[in-house]
Amino acid sequence: MVCVTIYAKVTWTKDKCPVGKEALNILADKILQPPALSRIVEWRRHLHAYPEVSGQEYETRRYLLDELAKMGIPARTFECHAGIMATVEGCAPGGVIALRADMDALPLEEKNAVGYRSQRQGIMHACGHDGHMAILLGVASALQQSRDKWAGTVKLLFQPSEEDAPRGGAPKMIKDGVLENPKVDAIFGLHVWPELPCGDIGIIRGPQMASSDRFSLRLIGASAHAANPHQGIDAIMMAGDVLNAFSRIIHRRVDPREAVTISVGTIRGGERYNVVAGEVLLEGTVRTLSEAIRKQIPAIIRQVTEGICAGYGGSFELDYQHGYPVLNNTDDEACLVVLTAGRLLGSERVRTDIKPALGAEDFAFYTDSVPGAFFLLGCGADGGKLRPLHSGNFDFDERALFIGARIMEDTVLAALSRVQQRKGATAKESR
Ligand SMILES: [Zn+2]
Ligand SMILES: [Zn+2]
Repeated sequence: MVCVTIYAKVTWTKDKCPVGKEALNILADKILQPPALSRIVEWRRHLHAYPEVSGQEYETRRYLLDELAKMGIPARTFECHAGIMATVEGCAPGGVIALRADMDALPLEEKNAVGYRSQRQGIMHACGHDGHMAILLGVASALQQSRDKWAGTVKLLFQPSEEDAPRGGAPKMIKDGVLENPKVDAIFGLHVWPELPCGDIGIIRGPQMASSDRFSLRLIGASAHAANPHQGIDAIMMAGDVLNAFSRIIHRRVDPREAVTISVGTIRGGERYNVVAGEVLLEGTVRTLSEAIRKQIPAIIRQVTEGICAGYGGSFELDYQHGYPVLNNTDDEACLVVLTAGRLLGSERVRTDIKPALGAEDFAFYTDSVPGAFFLLGCGADGGKLRPLHSGNFDFDERALFIGARIMEDTVLAALSRVQQRKGATAKESR
């Protein structure tokens, strides 16, 4: 059996590569739809019709296991969650590359009147994870069919509970050893992205998505008659000062060149219009692209709140939960995606000028442990109406499925090839 390097199998140059709407159709129809991907739309639509929320993805798991079994791909399941690790082995030992797709849907009513609309009331794949799973099945099928042509191991991670912030499903998969035995050299993931047109992808080196922490802050005063506020400690007044102080933290306690936001989403307090409120509860989230800033913020919140409460004679309780870390794309892995996608789509369609998102992704837990890259897969209609993620109207251009799968497939092959080259170079040096 001969193993060949597929690193440079797509040889378009920038000027030869088709671009534009019509060309995208040609690209999607003729070049990006090899037989291995023929069922990708069917998979996506089935998964879309039968969504399950975080922690309950067991029917989804059954469906994925059946499809993987039809392809002859062995898969491992886990006791404490619905994740799957499927493994495709090449024709010889080599590098180990992991790909991840998230599995969960959102507790949201679908508003689309499409044939494949959600069959489950109040649950919808409104974050495109149905597409991510279909793409990974497509990659699985393609790699299984070509495995006599490449060396190494590919781990396909179907991961539950991405939406279950601040915990997430990734830490459970990592705890169950998916990055070990054999040790993963690099990991790749993607997210459908309606703000980018179908045919474009977005990827940057370094922080691609923000960390996401969650806090609840209880401000404790003392109630009194509203006519005699001096006899109480007004928790609503304290809350007003704390909210103002939060915006000053961003402007005066953090390096202005850093991206950070503190948002309070709920505020509850007070019982009656003529009673000084004895207690107020604020709940919010902190997002940043810097792990260093992220470490400082809880102490700053505590210090600022302490000062304000002391001024009123009140007190507070802060419950600060660390959630998803900053998602950092490592240089080499981001470069591989840029090169691979550039060959497939044309380099002008690979957007490396995008700004990082302050949304969070639990894929960040993987890139905390191993090198990796995560890219945004354009799925919006060019010039059409935006169908935002996490809305009942979310849907996407399904040509993105083929594009995502082809980029993933070629990226894996390029990454495996690179591991081989590096091992070869190290062996030569040590001789
Ligand atoms: Zn989401
Ligand atoms: Zn998502």
